[in-house]
Parts: sequence; structure tokens; C-alpha cells
Amino acid sequence: MATQEETFKSIVSHCKEYGFVFPSSEIYDGLAAVYDYGQNGVELKNNIKQYWWAAMTKLHENIVGIDAAIFMHPTTWKASGHVDAFNDPLIDNRDSKKRYRADVLIEDQIAKYDEKIDKEVQKARKRFGESFDEALYRQTNPRVVEHQQKRDALHERYQKAMNANDLDELKQIILDEGIVCPISGTRNWTDVRQFNLMFSTEMGSTAEGAMKIYLRPETAQGIFVNFLNVQKTGRMKVPFGIAQIGKAFRNEIVARQFVFRMREFEQMEMQFFVRPGTELEWFEHWKQFRLRWHKALGLGDEKYRFHDHDKLAHYANAATDIEFLMPFGFKEVEGIHSRTNFDLSQHAKYSGKKIEYFDPELNESYTPYVIETSIGVDRMFLSVMCSAYKEEQLEGGDSRVVLSLPPVLAPVKACVMPLVKKDGLPEKAREVMDLLRFDFNIQYDEKDSIGKRYRRQDAIGTPFCITIDHDTLNDECVTVRYRDTMKQDRVKISELHELIRSQVDMTDLLRKL
Ligand code: ATP
Repeated sequence: MATQEETFKSIVSHCKEYGFVFPSSEIYDGLAAVYDYGQNGVELKNNIKQYWWAAMTKLHENIVGIDAAIFMHPTTWKASGHVDAFNDPLIDNRDSKKRYRADVLIEDQIAKYDEKIDKEVQKARKRFGESFDEALYRQTNPRVVEHQQKRDALHERYQKAMNANDLDELKQIILDEGIVCPISGTRNWTDVRQFNLMFSTEMGSTAEGAMKIYLRPETAQGIFVNFLNVQKTGRMKVPFGIAQIGKAFRNEIVARQFVFRMREFEQMEMQFFVRPGTELEWFEHWKQFRLRWHKALGLGDEKYRFHDHDKLAHYANAATDIEFLMPFGFKEVEGIHSRTNFDLSQHAKYSGKKIEYFDPELNESYTPYVIETSIGVDRMFLSVMCSAYKEEQLEGGDSRVVLSLPPVLAPVKACVMPLVKKDGLPEKAREVMDLLRFDFNIQYDEKDSIGKRYRRQDAIGTPFCITIDHDTLNDECVTVRYRDTMKQDRVKISELHELIRSQVDMTDLLRKL
């Protein structure tokens, strides 16, 4: 059995070998934490975006979309707090010269205590069998109690330091816990410093006096600055939402784990504007809706969990992450935040414009509160890939790699294959393609043996392979081979369209939400 780490490596190389994801500018040895999506990757990514867009806008009469520019007036980022506070605490190890996020080092240490406790509990469960009382064991076993106390104390100290922005204390925690650099194994740490994650560039020529502007680190601000435009022109009534999909840029200190943490990535964000005082109800509503959206894809309900934030941003009054079980553990894929009226009030203050909503039912004006749902397209892509990737042993000692992608997301829906390259079979295959290509992404393949062609399609997750043979010319039937079961059926050409549609159409998925 491959370890999780080996599996993840195989997924990364599979993504490259089959045209899903390439390192950026690879002929120049790549650019750290920047990736390009290939011919199959872009289709999968587009399908994810389409699923999100339809679920948020089509299914909600009161949510509309926008597409704001990446460049924004620099004051935007003063108002939003990003210029002053979009920082990560970084620390260097003097021996390995490696840079780390101080908060991540400490969070990993907390996770180590959790692992120790879990191990003890697992061992005891095995030992005691049916009669095991986990709650009692956790309260009374001296080793577990000791780990738990240490964990809680560390957690509290860490939270305090983060909330107070106390960089010296963060360093002291790292020293006191004896955290070592995984590369050098030493505790030779520098002081902790703040590092702003925004990329900046200049707009205009220097002669005119160039202006320093930022590449947006999130798409949300494009929504806030357009609140009045959309509300007025769309005659939107609170509660209503604005959705957007677009690129965001962060100069991440430690960028690793493939497309999980990149310096250029894509977000799908929705800001939902509500009456003050109703925000926590809406927060709960969006938490549940977003989890349903994830689960409806069928990647496995047990792979999701909520992780409520301990450290709330100063403007937030509730926040949670939807985490997905990646090969490297449960990781954040989406954040859901109750952001109060912070953003709109800040923009009102910095722009000098009145940004309020007149509520005809209450007969009063107010600054709406906001619930945000924010999901990374690339992290979603990665979670789909990780759960779809399978290495299967087949009968007869053969093996295959198959991507069991949800059919609605698969880059190619069906591949049409003439059994041989002669006898009029390619022409018949083209006829079949023409029946399907206007509604589905279809490939044509006449090279190599049928077995090899099946493997190629398995590797990119194509749900159906359609083989045209000599009988097809007489009986107007084809052989359909299913990706996951590898079973084959004889199907009438006239029934193909409906067979494919019934599996790949997004409507059924959306109806489940
Ligand atoms: P993290 O704690 O992992 O850095 P975050 O809490 O800063 O993430 P948010 O600011 O809440 O992330 O951004 C919303 C979503 O955008 C995240 O849930 C994630 O899916 C995505 N995202 C954020 N940063 C990156 C990145 N560097 N690369 C890819 N996706 C990202």
C-alpha cells in the first residue's frame, strides 16, 4: 500500500502527465508556487466554476454576479485593512536558511498533541473493546490528561499572542516548546517579523508620477465597492447577494502542496447583504447550504468537516472553514465569515460616500451586515482530484489508474472509437460524434488497441467510451463501456444522447441542493 505522501506525489505527476496542471513557465525551470492548467485541467476547472456559479446565481433570485477588475484604487486596500494588517508572522532558521510561518509552526505543534491523545485513545479502544468509555478515558487517563493540559495551555497562549500581535511572544512559544526546523533540526531561530502578503506594481509612467497599486489579494473588495452600483441598477432588496469568480494574488511565505497554496489563484466569493441583527441566522444558513453544495458531488460525506475559528478577525463575529480530507490531512477549502458591516463602513469612511440601504419595510436606512462565502477554485480542484484518483489492481495481474470524477465535472464526457481505422467505421464514428458534440465535450480516438484507448480515457476520467464496430453499420448499435465498473452494454445510437445526459447534466445535481 502506498503511503498518503506517495499517493499525493502520484497525483501531482498524474496531473502533469495527463494535461491537468503544469508548473508555470516550465521551460525556464518553473516559477515557485505558480501553475498553469492544461487542456484537461481547464475543462475540469471550468465545470467546477459553472457548478458554483449556477448554484449561487441561478438558484437564488436574489444573488447576481459581477466581474470586477483585478486592479483597484489603492485606497481600497487602506480601507479594507490589507495595507496595515494583511500580514503573516515569519521566522527564519539560521542554519537551514528556510523560512516558516511562525503561526503554522505553533499550530503544527498543537496538532502533535492532538495526535498523541488520539493515539492513546485508539490504543485503549483496542484494548477495552466494546466496553470502552471514551469520554471517561479522556477525563481520567493520566497520560491523556497531561497531553490535554499541555495542549490547552499552548493553545491559549498562542491565541493570546496572535490576538495581541505579540511577535516576541510567538518566538518565545516556539523556543519554549522546543520546536525545531524540520530541515536542519536546530532551534537557531531569528526573531519573528511581519510580512505583508500583497503584491504591488506601478500604474502610469514615472514622468507623470506613477501610482503604487496592488494586485488584489481577494476578490471580495471588488464586490463591496460595487455595492451601491448593483443595488441601485438591479433594484436589489436586502437580503441579497453579489457573486464573483476571479484571480487573487498573495505573496505566500511558504507555498507548497501543489495548487493548494499558490501565489496566483482563483476565488469564488459571494457577499450576502443582510439586516443588522439577522447575520448569525444567515451565517448558519450559508454554512449549511455550502456544505450541501460540496456533499452533492458525492466525493464522500465523511471527508468534510467544519472548523470554527478560534481567532476571529477584529471585524468578524463568526467564522468557520469547510475542511476537506486531502492526502495531507483535513484542510481548508472554503471559508464562511460573518463580517458585520465592517467593509461597507470602511469604504464609506475612506471614500466619503454614503453607503447605506433604505429598507422600505423598516422605513429606515442602515449599513447592511455581510455574510461571505469564499472558496478557492484550485483547492476545490485539488480535492476533486485527490478523491477521484485510484490505482486499481485488475484480474489477470493487470492494473489501471482511473479518475473516478463526478461525471458532471469530467473534462471529457465520452470518447468515440472506431474499432478499426477502415471499413467505413471512422466515418460512422464521426456521425456519432456529430450527434453528441453540440451538447457534450467529446473526443475521438482511433489509435492503438481498444484496451489502450480505454486506459487513456480512464486516466482523464471520461465516464463513457463508445465503440463503433462492424455490426454498428447494420444494427445502429454501439458498445458503451463504463469507466468505473468497466462493464459494457450494447446501446442504440439513438439512445446515446439521453444515456450521457442522464449522467453528466448539471440540472440533477442542482436540484439536490
Ligand atoms: P489559509 O489559512 O489556508 O492561508 P485563508 O484563511 O487565508 O487560507 P481566505 O482568505 O479565507 O483563506 O480565502 C478564501 C479561500 O481562498 C480559501 O478557503 C482557499 O480556498 C482560497 N485560498 C486562499 N489562499 C490561497 C492560496 N494561496 N492558494 C490557493 N487558494 C487559496
